Amino acid sequence: MIKFSILASGSSGNAAVICSDEAVVLIDCGVSAKYLSESLAAINIKPQDISAAVITHAHGDHISASGLSFLMKHNVKILSCGEVFEDAFIKHGVKLDDCRLIAFVRNFKVYDIEVNPFYVHHRDQRVSKTLGFTFVSQSCGKQYKIGYVTDTGKICKNIVSHLADSNILAIESNYDTAMLEESLRPYENKQWILSDNGHLSNAAAAQAIIDVKNASKAKDSLKYVFLAHISQSHNSKRLALSTVENALAKNKITDINLFTALRHSKSKTIIIQ
Ligand SMILES: [Zn+2]
Repeated sequence: MIKFSILASGSSGNAAVICSDEAVVLIDCGVSAKYLSESLAAINIKPQDISAAVITHAHGDHISASGLSFLMKHNVKILSCGEVFEDAFIKHGVKLDDCRLIAFVRNFKVYDIEVNPFYVHHRDQRVSKTLGFTFVSQSCGKQYKIGYVTDTGKICKNIVSHLADSNILAIESNYDTAMLEESLRPYENKQWILSDNGHLSNAAAAQAIIDVKNASKAKDSLKYVFLAHISQSHNSKRLALSTVENALAKNKITDINLFTALRHSKSKTIIIQ
């Protein structure tokens, strides 16, 4: 069994949770302690149930001071790579000294969940590295795989090969290119979002899903796909969905259940038995 819930997604905060037979892994803590504890309680997870938290990168919508306090209060192990911790230390300082931090450079296990980190393309003055993850769990002779990539300016072949054969995929679908280009955002900020180290457009997310599907051999690959980190100002859930649906239809891909991740509430929980 594997269970996946996105608790919040977007520039105002990100968190998701994966439950297997033996482990509960939190992905990012960019929301308040109150939100985190209430949204976990709504799916019957107590703070002491969390086996570990993994952090994608140091932007405040992925690791907030309040979210960090929640993890510290409950003595949760926080896992990320050294660069992410260095970036986070500049922002959160001594607070991180009190955390149970574990830096990694390669795959590791949290009980029965194998966690595979990989670098994605997202950096600015405050963030030097950003990670994507896959989570693989085996149970009763079956293998379950979840892919998680938000905050990346592009999807390269290496990311596609990591995500191949995921049963569930959460992928950024941040902006509609025309809406972003027409927006009143400062020119430099727009150029960064559009760059290879910024965020992913709806069209690029659609192409990535097609590429991952084509690279997959498992029968149940990409059964559930969440479009995540949808911008409030230069995108809409409807536009992200229709862009991806149209691209999938053109490529004759008809077996994906597509959802949008919600900003301020839990998205649909997926359970695969
Ligand atoms: Zn970011």
